[in-house]
Amino acid sequence: MVGNPLDRALARARAFERLGDDDAYALLHAGSPRWVADGDREWSLTEEICELACRQRDRDRDRVLTWSPKVFLPVTNLCRDRCTYCTFRRDPGEAGEWTMTPDEIRQWSERGKEAGCIEALMCLGDKPEIAFRGFSAELERWGAASTAEYVGLACSLALEADLLPHTNAGLLSHDEMRNLRPVNVSFGLMLENVSPRLRARGMPHQYAPDKDPAARVSMIADAGKLRIPFTSGILVGIGETEAERIASLLELRRLHEQYGHLQEVIIQNFRHKDATPMSGFPEPTEDEFIRCVAIARLLLGPAMNIQAPPNLSPHGHARLVNAGINDWGGISPVTADYVNPGDPWPHLEDLAQTCSGLGFELEPRLPVYPEYVNDEFLDPDMRLAVERFADLPAAVAAQGGAAL
Ligand code: SF4
Repeated sequence: MVGNPLDRALARARAFERLGDDDAYALLHAGSPRWVADGDREWSLTEEICELACRQRDRDRDRVLTWSPKVFLPVTNLCRDRCTYCTFRRDPGEAGEWTMTPDEIRQWSERGKEAGCIEALMCLGDKPEIAFRGFSAELERWGAASTAEYVGLACSLALEADLLPHTNAGLLSHDEMRNLRPVNVSFGLMLENVSPRLRARGMPHQYAPDKDPAARVSMIADAGKLRIPFTSGILVGIGETEAERIASLLELRRLHEQYGHLQEVIIQNFRHKDATPMSGFPEPTEDEFIRCVAIARLLLGPAMNIQAPPNLSPHGHARLVNAGINDWGGISPVTADYVNPGDPWPHLEDLAQTCSGLGFELEPRLPVYPEYVNDEFLDPDMRLAVERFADLPAAVAAQGGAAL
């Protein structure tokens, strides 16, 4: 194949060939203001990459974009890490510290069910019992010997309310995941970035031992060995280089090619928040982020579910669709995005209208994708729980989800 590395990468993408690592790095040149003449039309290289990304997405898919109706359960906001962009975490005794009681979990799950939710997202801080001795005593009161065990109890309560749990509890061990698998349809852990540089002095993960990339890669691999449908992704704009972004996407691709368990990859843009050490840190530009989404689609291929959170790009929905996403992730009618409290969920009607204007139907989905609903990836009880949602759009409408 002739031409420079960038042209070769684009030609491969056009031919639906698997892009190699060299192609991936060549696509970094998308940052240059190259313009391509195509008949009467002139377009930027970013537009060219986005168009190729859409061709990949649309190759074997219906014109459908999905979202997951969810209730967000912030099981505890105690966390032993201190990521410098985070407003979620608290120390014991700090204003806003909160661990949900079993009653709160039950009530919120029931409220979510009534509002049409399907997913119970268990989202919490990392390993609080290691950092805060008093927390273990609190867990013992509820019969749990560890945070992971308490999450298992929370999942059982959500299942009783006829929701499907998806756990994102930070770093979990192989045994913790094995024990939680029978009460979850999927798990999640953002890789964020594969570069250990982000844990160096002055970097966002300096005081976040659980953001060690090797440990996160190891957990994602363990999930693969346990045959757990898994959600991961990267966080764009926290001080990583473009090359580190690409390396992170390639690492996720490697993990998926080895284990076949990554059900979706989230491309999440950093939003700075007041009263954090990164409050003045520049957010990625829309162009920069869109390019990253499109490159993710090209690297991960047509079959991967690529997601971008709509509340973090409130004015960029159409551009995200045109960069090759096929999913918006969880949107809740009853709970805020506790990790990004300043970024409200979009109105579903508006989102549906944007999708429809671009030729797509907006449809609800389960927190486990159809390709993973089988005996290999789901515990028998979870298969039964999932089967209750066989007729999904009708089931959501009947529960009131259409009114979100
Ligand atoms: S981002 Fe997660 S791991 Fe980091 S401090 Fe916040 S809750 Fe803890």
